Amino acid sequence: MRDSSPGALAWIEEALAALGRRGLERRLRVREGALSPQTTVDGRPLLHFGSNDYLALASDPRVVAAAVAAVGELGWGAGASPLLLGHTHQHQQLQDCLAAFEQTEAALVFGSGFAANTGTIAALVGPGDVVFSDQLNHASLWDGCRLSRADVRAYAHGDCQDLARLLDRARHARRRLIVTESLFSMDGDLAPLAELVDLAERYDAIMLVDEAHATGVFGASGRGVAEHLGVAERIAVRIGTLSKALGGVGGFVAGSRALVAWLVNRARPYGFSTAVPAAAAAAALAALQIVRQEPWRRTALLQRAALLRARLAEQGWDIGPSCSQIIPLMVGDSGRAMGLSQALAERGLFVPAIRPPSVPEGKARLRISLTYAHTEAMIETLLAALGALRSSWQRG
Ligand code: PMP
Repeated sequence: MRDSSPGALAWIEEALAALGRRGLERRLRVREGALSPQTTVDGRPLLHFGSNDYLALASDPRVVAAAVAAVGELGWGAGASPLLLGHTHQHQQLQDCLAAFEQTEAALVFGSGFAANTGTIAALVGPGDVVFSDQLNHASLWDGCRLSRADVRAYAHGDCQDLARLLDRARHARRRLIVTESLFSMDGDLAPLAELVDLAERYDAIMLVDEAHATGVFGASGRGVAEHLGVAERIAVRIGTLSKALGGVGGFVAGSRALVAWLVNRARPYGFSTAVPAAAAAAALAALQIVRQEPWRRTALLQRAALLRARLAEQGWDIGPSCSQIIPLMVGDSGRAMGLSQALAERGLFVPAIRPPSVPEGKARLRISLTYAHTEAMIETLLAALGALRSSWQRG
């Protein structure tokens, strides 16, 4: 066998340099200690406004204790795919509780939200089918569409007229699948789910909604935007993640018994990947319990987010269509977004710059994500720094 020549990878250095010249290179930074708004990054204290730990459960003592107890009882690794006995009592209990929480017949836990999205879409449609995806959908939804080998049609963000036009042209396809986030991860706005399910019903399409950023945050009982808008029961395939408001790791799909049985058989990231540790399932169970018992976390978070959005708008920032705990500060140019993020870091704040390919070209922004753990004083610190930077930034 011939050694592959290191020269065969020489292009990478040039490609990285090109990313750097466009302000698009990403580098890892090291965060120390338990997740909290007061954090240390590369040795410097920073106020963290970039995590998806919306309900502050990642370091909650009850969640941690559940994980520790499960590790003590069951050890760490699951050892194999769920299909090969990686599936324990804790996984089953979590699935039963997720189904009860979502008020569906069944639920299935994947290794990540990313895996849940790619695996589910590719299991539901294939060649001869058409999948309709919101232009601003998350990479995992897009990758699922591509993996499925169905025809993929992008519809303009949240635009039901555009979607109806595309659905109309695909009347003769074998299956139609509409795919959307419920709370968009980079814009903080909501999908028009009521109109989307109307269209799905009119055109006999399957409706798949990714509630990654809304589970635990939106809806009277924390089920997400579908519950908030009163259409949860009309959505056949509901996806959530255990990694954001639930503070852990893993993704899930909630729906009918038949859907879950099909995914057990056909979702490749489910069957061909090691199960999450039972301790992760135990931690998610504890987090789910808190979501059910402490609704004030989500209410307080959304109230504080509304105040923060109003204050940012008063300062003159363009916060786009946000109506949630995810608040973008629209900047446009990637280099300028990096500059603003850097200026905030110099003032002790971490607000990440989001650049292509996470957002479309020319739509770079800062992404503030608010959590239940951010105090009023922390929010004032952020506003003071942004207020001080606002005029110089506008001139720059
Ligand atoms: N869906 C959306 C909308 C997301 O933003 C993300 C993660 N950022 C995922 C799915 C993937 O979830 P996970 O991190 O659990 O893989």
